[in-house]
Parts: sequence; structure tokens; C-alpha cells
Amino acid sequence: MSVLIVGSIALDDVKTPVEERFDLLGGSASYASVAAGYFSPVNLVAIVGEDFPASHWEFLQGRGINLEGVQRATGKTFRWSGEYLWDMNTRETRSVALNVFENFSPSVPDHYRSSDFVLLANIAPDMQLKVLQQMEKPRFVIADTMDLWINIAQPALLKLLKCVDMLILNDSEARELTKETSLIKAGKKIQSLGPRFVALKKGEHGCLLFGEDEFFSCPAYPLEDIHDPTGAGDTFAGGLTGFLASRGKDKVDFASLKTAVVVGSVLASYNVEAFSLERLRRVEKKDILSRFAEFQDLARFDASLP
Ligand code: AMP
Repeated sequence: MSVLIVGSIALDDVKTPVEERFDLLGGSASYASVAAGYFSPVNLVAIVGEDFPASHWEFLQGRGINLEGVQRATGKTFRWSGEYLWDMNTRETRSVALNVFENFSPSVPDHYRSSDFVLLANIAPDMQLKVLQQMEKPRFVIADTMDLWINIAQPALLKLLKCVDMLILNDSEARELTKETSLIKAGKKIQSLGPRFVALKKGEHGCLLFGEDEFFSCPAYPLEDIHDPTGAGDTFAGGLTGFLASRGKDKVDFASLKTAVVVGSVLASYNVEAFSLERLRRVEKKDILSRFAEFQDLARFDASLP
């Protein structure tokens, strides 16, 4: 089962307390596509400018990602720059240059339109909606978002929520969107806005999955060294969607989603071990399986009280 992914492709400058790197391959769609590609064929819809390096294009292509839906426009690629504080969790956006994104009107190639699994990776909600309107009858639609859209495009985001099966966002964004301090109340409130499933990411503390009448708390992998948290959320979303699609359209249930959340967490934990997509370049399927087994041990709890 293939996955349709729409999102940003970017050139990022990233500063951490120990290192600063420039012109890195970034963007929500880059991370999400590479992560999803471990499990399912990926059809990508995005835009790059004339300055987008051929080596990045070849890397994405080399991962088997179908780039037919990626427009190459006149102008510069979207650029983002961020800085992490000493806790490697708090991030300040230093600059954003929309460039070719400013006039991006996503167009889904005809033969992508029948995809059953759609990941609307983080971009403006009206662009996410535009993609969804071009799809025939997707079985499962997952959307990711960020604080920016909660602040400046909330009406479009609320419209989008009515059309998706699952929303992924982080804890502070969930609180911002719902004005609830309790994440449990926030998750349920988001479900009342449309999506049947909600995944709330808590950074180094794992993730909460809300189902119709079920709930799952996924631990985080205890990583000692984080080099660059950029793209962790996008990698999580891509891994989750790619895995779910690989199970087939008749197996979208809470049990599959629980496994998908763990798979997403495994991929995100690898991603933060190096800048940009450098770590995922070297991660193989066997590495994912081995860390997945470690996750199972982390969550297993079979002691009993006397
Ligand atoms: P994350 O760390 O999961 O929040 O994702 C970081 C990635 O998102 C970076 O590679 C950025 O290029 C990309 N990004 C940042 N801001 C935006 C935005 N407004 N729209 C789309 N992508 C963005």
C-alpha cells in the first residue's frame, strides 16, 4: 500500500549548544518520507526551488521516494533556521523564508489520487486541505501541525480537523489548541473536534495515543546523546503512517495504531542521534526491528503484587 505525503522540503540551518550546521536537508516531508519509506512506497507532493542541491534530490530518489509530485519552481527553496537551548528540547525559530512556498498550490498527480493512506505533514492547513480535496476516497488520513498554524490559521485548522482520521501534535500545541492543562482532557477535546485518533507527543517523555474508547501510553527510548532534535515529529509521523499502510487498509485498528506509534518512536529516536537525515541514511530495517524489541521490553510490565 503506498502512502501519499505532502509537506515541506527545506534547507535548514540548525544551532545546538555544541554545534552549528548550515544548508541541511530538512522539511517535514523529507523526514516523513524517508521514515515512511522503510515500510511502504511513498508518493511525495512538495515544492523546491532552483537552488535545491541535486545531491538531496538524488538522496530522496535513492530511497525509492516517488518525486513526480514535487514541483521545481523558479526561485529559492523554503528555508528555516532554529536554535536549541541547553535542554535540547526548547527551540527558538531564528528565521523562516517561505520562498517558493509562498505561491505553492499543491497538485496531486492523477495516479496518486487513489492512495488509501495520506499523511498531511506539517504545512499550512489550507494547503493540507487542498491536497485532501484532490484525493478520491482515502481510507486513513493523518495530519500533523504546529503552533504557528494554531496561532495564525486556526479556522483552516479546525476545518481540516473535521476531515482527518488522526491528528498528531505535541503536548504544548495540544494545550494551546484546547486551552486545557490536562493532556488527557486536551486529547479528548481534540477528538471532539473531528479526528477519531489523536497522538500527543511529549518529546523525551514519550507519546499518548487516544482511540475511540482506548488509550495507550508509549514510553520514550532512553537516549543519552541527542545531537539534533529537528524533524523528530515528522519522522515519527512518517514512520507511523508507513507502518500502518504496510498493514493494509483492512487493518486500521487500535492494535495496529499502538504498534505504529512505537515504530514512529523508534524512527524518531534514531533521527535525533545526528543532524538532518544523516542518521536515517545509515539506519537499516534490522536496526528498527532491534530497537522495536527494546521498546517492547521498556513497556512490558509483568510483575504482580503479593
Ligand atoms: P520538527 O522538528 O518536527 O518540528 O520539524 C522541523 C522541520 O520542519 C524543519 O526541517 C523545518 O524545515 C520544517 N519547518 C519549520 N517550520 C515550518 C513551516 N512553517 N512549514 C513547514 N515546515 C516547516
